Amino acid sequence: MITIKKFGGTSVGSIERIEKVADRIVADIKKGQKPVVVASAMSGETNRLVRLAHEIDPLNRGPGYDMLLASGEQVSIALLSIALEKRGVTATPLLAHQLGIQTDSIYSKARIQSVDGEKLKALVNQNTVPIVAGFQGVTDDFKITTLGRGGSDTTAVALAASIGADACEIYTDVPAVFTADPRLVKRAREIPVLCYEEMMEMASLGSKVLHFRCVELAVKFNVKLHVRSTFEEREGTWIVPEGESMENPVVSSVTHDASTVVLKIFPTPSGTGFKSQLFSTLAERGIVVDIITQSHNEEGQRLAFSVSEEDALLAKKIVDEMVGSSARVDIMKDMAKISTIGVGMRNHPGVAARFFQVLDAIRVPIHLVTTSEIKISAVIDKKNLEKAAEGLHREFHLDDDV
Ligand code: ASP
Ligand code: MG
Repeated sequence: MITIKKFGGTSVGSIERIEKVADRIVADIKKGQKPVVVASAMSGETNRLVRLAHEIDPLNRGPGYDMLLASGEQVSIALLSIALEKRGVTATPLLAHQLGIQTDSIYSKARIQSVDGEKLKALVNQNTVPIVAGFQGVTDDFKITTLGRGGSDTTAVALAASIGADACEIYTDVPAVFTADPRLVKRAREIPVLCYEEMMEMASLGSKVLHFRCVELAVKFNVKLHVRSTFEEREGTWIVPEGESMENPVVSSVTHDASTVVLKIFPTPSGTGFKSQLFSTLAERGIVVDIITQSHNEEGQRLAFSVSEEDALLAKKIVDEMVGSSARVDIMKDMAKISTIGVGMRNHPGVAARFFQVLDAIRVPIHLVTTSEIKISAVIDKKNLEKAAEGLHREFHLDDDV
């Protein structure tokens, strides 16, 4: 059986750790597994590369930017291959173009279109361990692209889908997916089983455990995900279709995103088409707009929306160019988004009421809010994040003492 094993940045963060990962792979081979390995860049490396590019031009998202960012993975897969070879295991390090990981050409947020699964299978059958660079792809005219921060998870699932593997292991520095970020909420617990939909919301609402596209692809190709520790043997969290997850608590997690920025436009230029033009321009530039609200008073209409910190500068520039001097554009940094997520919310009324009561009681003002069938999210001041997360975690019975 072929197993896909993805190792994150901290798992390959030093030579010592790379040697440990190699030991683990060798042990799994001895147990009869045929591994395909995907690795991220050594921890901190991609950030370092981003900083270098920013020193020259913080807004560039072109072929050079992606080529630069993709270089981190080249180093880690090469080192891992050397470590396996030292242990007598034949390894084949592969960059995206060598494996035909084909993407579109949206730099820094490219989407995988196809992978050469046959080549991967052929390698495994030749008894070599493919060690694939995560996070990168290649366009049909051979430009290097990257899949967005955290994108190595997506590479792993795409490989699993391309060879029809039904499970994909994501090795990381935490033992499992938690009910909240344990650094923020001391009483966060490990979650043994989650369903795809919940994980998808968690990933899109700020949990860094898995890349959003990875879960989306896992659903599409029915690949079960297993998030587990690189440093411990025990199992972590399984992410499976809804019917297969055991219990559905009303809320299964409190997720946050501390890199939210809100842009406010007032008064919104009148005239038809401003909003459609604004949001299509942002979309064309690859900016994902999150929550959008509008309100009126006698002086006009206020439009507010949130974007990630990463996109904030570019978004502000685009908005400024579009409104000129006809409106004030405010940028509110130091914001955070806090969300409660759970498929159980579908069948339980009153979740929104409890959400607002908790934040009211601890005097946390809400700037923007949005809900769906299985989540409620609010944008709040970053300084209130910890108490809001703890309050919601307790309210929805996620604390580890209940
Ligand atoms: N190295 C890339 C990043 O830091 C991709 C990944 O780690 O998944 O975002
Ligand atoms: Mg990651």
